Amino acid sequence: MNAPAETPLSEATVRFLAQPKKMLIGAEWRDALSGRTLESRNPATGDVIATFPAAAAADVDLAVQAARAAFSGKEWGKARPIDRERWLLRLADRVEANAQELAEIETLDNGKPLMFARRVDVQQAVDFLRYVAGWCTKIEGSTLTPSVPALRKNEYFAYTLREPVGVVGAIIPWNFPLLIAVWKIAPALATGCTIVLKPAEETSLAALRLAELVLEAGIPAGVVNVVTGLGHEAGAALAAHRGIDKVTFTGSTEVGKRIGKAAMDNMTRVSLELGGKSPVIMFDDVDVKSAAAGAANAIFFNSGQVCAAGSRLYVHKRVFDQVLEGVVAVANKMRVGPGLDPGSQIGPLVSAKQLQRVTGYIRKGVEEGGSLLAGSAESADKGYFIKPTVVTGLGEQATLIQEEIFGPVLVATPFDDIDEIAAAANATPYGLAASIWSNDLSRVHRLIPRIQAGTVWVNCHGVLDNAMPFGGYKQSGIGREMGRSMIDLFTETKSVMMQL
Ligand code: NAP
Ligand code: MG
Repeated sequence: MNAPAETPLSEATVRFLAQPKKMLIGAEWRDALSGRTLESRNPATGDVIATFPAAAAADVDLAVQAARAAFSGKEWGKARPIDRERWLLRLADRVEANAQELAEIETLDNGKPLMFARRVDVQQAVDFLRYVAGWCTKIEGSTLTPSVPALRKNEYFAYTLREPVGVVGAIIPWNFPLLIAVWKIAPALATGCTIVLKPAEETSLAALRLAELVLEAGIPAGVVNVVTGLGHEAGAALAAHRGIDKVTFTGSTEVGKRIGKAAMDNMTRVSLELGGKSPVIMFDDVDVKSAAAGAANAIFFNSGQVCAAGSRLYVHKRVFDQVLEGVVAVANKMRVGPGLDPGSQIGPLVSAKQLQRVTGYIRKGVEEGGSLLAGSAESADKGYFIKPTVVTGLGEQATLIQEEIFGPVLVATPFDDIDEIAAAANATPYGLAASIWSNDLSRVHRLIPRIQAGTVWVNCHGVLDNAMPFGGYKQSGIGREMGRSMIDLFTETKSVMMQL
């Protein structure tokens, strides 16, 4: 790691960090009823940067009550779609106007390089808010021509209504804290729902700043509530709360299953965006240099802490050595350092716990017979840094091929033919995404239907669009966020049959 030349924090960020952190429940900024707090750490140093409330079930209960009151209240209930659109556009403007501060908060809390926080996290949050704002006025049911058989003399008229599902509970992870908060809040508001959001304990600051901007945008009190706290306390209380109508979760498959079960006890609607072990498949016609850069980017972006990270690289055996050599060269050249250093390409992992988890996996890979071509299980003395790591020589059942690591660890394997690669690509419990790299169109088109994944990229990886549905097959989740399909997740359909 090079000596950091850090970008100084803006005054706004310094001010935000200095002010006491409270949760937004209804119109009020509150401490936890118990008075307990949690600490937020800067992953580049391990230093505490803020403390914030540790909510428990009683706090969650207040937030759900506030969201229910807002949902049933006049101001939100009577708001027209165009009013909701205006609120979302105003929130987009507020986020954009505070982009630098939000990016700095994200870098301090999560560790990611400031440039990515600004250009990816914050910019995409602004774009998504504007995209979703347009949906408010375009949510519609359909009219049907009934063929009711029995009494032909009667005439009928039938149509469907789309109604907001109600109060939404949202639980989110730490890898894109602001952006994923917006991915939950925006569709909830567009459809007329109200929401209680629980950010991840490791990265709660961006959601608290966003909550201030929600009020500045004039969104009625109680429509958006933010409770901070631990997953097994605040998160579990929210998922199991009888007062919510829908739970939306992004995070690990293990916790997703627990949330799904809790939701089912109350028949709460549930959508889950979970983990992945996405394959990157490269055929023998790829341009070796750009393929290597693409494979490196697919796994190392955001320090590999991406649900759709391309963590399994499969390269046709004819070009395997050349592509791998290129990936290793990129990995060895990447600058690992603090997110506030403009030269850093890879920031630290989010937490000491995540660092331990990732280095544990690397050691396991070596124990199971893998060879380390780049990186190592060593970490820095200060901060949660780890080098981009490339492993080869592991079989299909190896832990590093089967389990989600959520770190900058790539496992590379050669393949020979299309049947072999179709089987290997699908041979994990996950099915979030995959990428295929080739300009042989018929080969690409033959492989796409054989891949069990919610998204397949061709000659790129990790490219999301606000209009493109995103979600998982198999144990990568239930439901599709983004695009038209997000409207389904936040609405109920009511069928109306009328005898004329
Ligand atoms: P996680 O445990 O699934 O956490 C995600 C969210 O769920 C956090 O807000 C967490 O709260 C909360 N949570 C934890 N236990 C809960 C429970 N029993 N009931 C309700 N909510 C609960 O993920 P993580 O600990 O942050 O990371 C662990 C692994 O999950 C990663 O290594 C990675 O494999 C995977 N992950 C996947 C994604 C993705 O986008 N698919 C994102 C992040 C992580 P607290 O964190 O505040 O305790
Ligand atoms: Mg956690």
